[in-house]
Amino acid sequence: MTLKIVGPDFFDLSALLSEEEIAVQNMTHQWVQDRFRPLISKHYRHGSFPFELQAEMGEMGFFGSTLPEKYGTAGINGVAYGLMMQELERGDSGLRSFASVQGSLVMWPIWKYGSKAQREKWLPLLASGEKIGCFGLTEPDYGSNPGGMITRVKQAGEQFILNGTKMWITNSPVADVAVVWAKNDAGEVKGFLVERGTKGFETPEIKGKLSLRASVTGEIILNNCMIPLENQLPAADGLKAALSCLTQARYGINWGVLGAAIACYEEAVTYAKSRIQFDKPIAAFQLTQQKLAEMLNEITKAQFLTLQLGRLKDRETMNHRQVSMAKMNNVRMAIEIARSARTILGASGITDEYVSMRHVANLESVLTYEGTHEMHTLVVGEHITGIAAYR
Ligand SMILES: Cc1cc2nc3c(=O)[nH]c(=O)nc-3n(C[C@H](O)[C@H](O)[C@H](O)COP(=O)(O)OP(=O)(O)OC[C@H]3O[C@@H](n4cnc5c(N)ncnc54)[C@H](O)[C@@H]3O)c2cc1C
Repeated sequence: MTLKIVGPDFFDLSALLSEEEIAVQNMTHQWVQDRFRPLISKHYRHGSFPFELQAEMGEMGFFGSTLPEKYGTAGINGVAYGLMMQELERGDSGLRSFASVQGSLVMWPIWKYGSKAQREKWLPLLASGEKIGCFGLTEPDYGSNPGGMITRVKQAGEQFILNGTKMWITNSPVADVAVVWAKNDAGEVKGFLVERGTKGFETPEIKGKLSLRASVTGEIILNNCMIPLENQLPAADGLKAALSCLTQARYGINWGVLGAAIACYEEAVTYAKSRIQFDKPIAAFQLTQQKLAEMLNEITKAQFLTLQLGRLKDRETMNHRQVSMAKMNNVRMAIEIARSARTILGASGITDEYVSMRHVANLESVLTYEGTHEMHTLVVGEHITGIAAYR
């Protein structure tokens, strides 16, 4: 029997995927339906992440899935990983963010820039979900412009001393290890691993979020925080190392938001067929059909853009400008679909009995984090004109 992806497949995307890629999508979809969907409303209201699923997520292979299997990962290709992220975000952007940070922003830099000892110590623990990591780049005064960071590192004998504050850090309050970026006396950006329990390392939670509520966000306060010299990521040289991690994470986001869009589209179709006004299902009205047709059209275009991005990644020819264009396109596509789906649901759409409004709220964060929509637009603008308009 030929396997098919679960969800809209108007142009037979399944025909361009391997059986393994489709199987990963199907398996992740089922897990999200069975294990995550029953929990999300409660956690979203409460503003918490379902940590009861953390170990199971590790067992399912959701963390660092494209890294070598010898570290306990799933060892799948970039496209299968992308479809996995799509299905996690079909559940909630907070769920995909958890996997993205763990895999792309913590495990990937340790694998790419870490020492053998760091890889052997941390990657299996992070792959299994036994330990949680976070990534501290953004600061209160340096968001889109991380190169201006104030956080400093100084060497004092056998130790590094870190001082500074990181802001808006996913999972910092619960992380066992933080990948932290700081400038040395020569003004060079370097990467470090700071472990929970280190003196001078605090991670207060940021409360009051109206978006990405099922995700824990916090600060990292480094106050004369002393770490051993071996906690430096030896091969992480300059801001480009930090930015290369973001390229990995944005790749996953580009697939993830497709999942959010699909969840909203499917909800809108189901609702439109059953909601009766003027003695007809609202799906019978031309304006509703136009909204649904545009949603399917945008999802279909984004599926092909993202699949090709994945093929380029697996061929190791993907570049950060392509990732920027896909983030620009896909996040805008997803947020517009989520908003449009919410209108089809009418008043019911503003409650958490339906998913669309939650996705609208979440996608506001996704539009901003990992490089704002404006910054990605300017990256593409720079590619076209040769002029960097952002500085
Ligand atoms: C829920 C959440 C989780 C996050 N998780 C992490 C994490 O785990 N680790 C981490 O390091 N960071 C994280 N971030 C931070 C995120 O990456 C930043 O918020 C983002 O880079 C934008 O920075 P900023 O919020 O300071 O906005 P600013 O940089 O102050 O931008 C504000 C506005 O000005 C615009 N702007 C800025 N500069 C220019 C320019 N040159 N040209 C045109 N427009 C411009 C922006 O596009 C935006 O619209 C997270 C953020 C959120 C909301």
